Amino acid sequence: MSGTFVGMPVFPTAAREALGNAQLRHNLAHATGTIRGKRSRLVEEVTDSITGDSGWEDLRLAGAGVKEAALLGLERELLRLEETLTANGATVHWAQDAAEANRIVTGIARRHGVDEVVKVKSMVTQEIGLNEALAAEGIAAWETDLAELIVQLGDDLPSHILVPAIHRNRAEVREIFLRAMKEVGRPAPEDLTDEPAVLAAAAREHLREKFLRAKVGVSGANFAVAETGTLVVVESEGNGRMCLTLPEVLVSVVGIEKVVSQWEDLDPLLRLLPRSSTGERMNPYTSTWSGVTPGDGPQEVHVVLLDNGRTNALADRTGRQALRCIRCSACLNVCPVYERTGGHAYGSVYPGPIGAILNPLLKGIGTDEQVDSLPYASSLCGACFEACPVRIDIPSVLVDQRAQVVDARRGHGVKSLGSGHAAEAIAFKGAAVALSDARKLGFGERFTRVGLGAARRLGSLPVLSKWAGARDLPPAPPESFRSWWERTDGGRSEGEGR
Ligand code: SF4
Repeated sequence: MSGTFVGMPVFPTAAREALGNAQLRHNLAHATGTIRGKRSRLVEEVTDSITGDSGWEDLRLAGAGVKEAALLGLERELLRLEETLTANGATVHWAQDAAEANRIVTGIARRHGVDEVVKVKSMVTQEIGLNEALAAEGIAAWETDLAELIVQLGDDLPSHILVPAIHRNRAEVREIFLRAMKEVGRPAPEDLTDEPAVLAAAAREHLREKFLRAKVGVSGANFAVAETGTLVVVESEGNGRMCLTLPEVLVSVVGIEKVVSQWEDLDPLLRLLPRSSTGERMNPYTSTWSGVTPGDGPQEVHVVLLDNGRTNALADRTGRQALRCIRCSACLNVCPVYERTGGHAYGSVYPGPIGAILNPLLKGIGTDEQVDSLPYASSLCGACFEACPVRIDIPSVLVDQRAQVVDARRGHGVKSLGSGHAAEAIAFKGAAVALSDARKLGFGERFTRVGLGAARRLGSLPVLSKWAGARDLPPAPPESFRSWWERTDGGRSEGEGR
């Protein structure tokens, strides 16, 4: 019971379909608008303790600084993390890619002879398709985060980083619970209403038996502190903490970019994250664990440190800043493109502005049409950069990646991204010829009116309609610049002789 993003269409195709779904747009606009409002109130109240001015920018700089410092010394910090975790009684595994990480986790589950595991909400395990890998071995993975549970029971895909079921309303959630809970465990009560508290209570009852039965828990981590060998998960419901403490065995899959150097580094990050994500001053639950404590919590702890494209991302001078991301989802909530298309259109567990740059960084540019379409899934308005608590300049990375996409697809036999891009390429080639010579430019200007009229008519042709459908052609000026210059002597006799 889980969907997969494999085989998703390119962003323009998926987005067009999403735009036709009025209910989806309504759900998204309502949810993102509410979170935006809460976030901005909480951001405004961060003040500098000395001057009393806004301290948000200083906090952003501090957050970006600790993440950047850890990335600059990544190899050193990861080795230190391995050392401290091992000293604390955890077993550390290194996984180069998704297949290796899945092999490690399924191997541990099989060694313990289990046919089910409980999971803390984790983006990285979705990134590697862990649930599907476990299912192939006959092991069911139960999501315990409420929104994640809705997605799983609905045989759906996550649509948002923080609120994976953001595209569902209360009535839809009630229908999913009534239909699907009984297939995989304790059924929902027959008198279930769509009140949030009633729905949450049904989920709690459904999950409780799974928590109490599970021998193996699986988690990710928001941060990993190299100095102390400590993993950190922040959440709102407490279900994550149940997964982290009740099972005998805990397996944590952690992207290598999650490491920070020292305990103090958590200070700005744990203040930035809740304000930026849920619009709260602090997370209701912040759980930390450091290996094994005899007689308390899991007695066997495994940590899988995952690369899966992250070292390639680190080598990209402009794009590497995306590894600072703390998955707060603020960039999604302010993005006008995300608000209209929702997360599924991005074809990945990482949707929105951060997904548009992170997927190409992790998967590489020039090999997959769907991935190459993502840097274009933006209006470049800059709202994502303004909202990002760790100052990731997403628009700059998008522009850089668009250039990489063009370069990768130029003359290397890689399929074009569609007629729109081909038309753009022809237009820019034409511009290069015209601008290279004054006589050619003058000749071209005389035909501007004719050219724009023809372009308008050509835009209705099927082959160009995708490109033209999203763009307005300006009206042709009554006179070219060159002729205006000659007529007015460069503006000195403006208005005379007309
Ligand atoms: S890119 Fe920035 S705003 Fe977007 S999820 Fe990551 S940390 Fe949050």
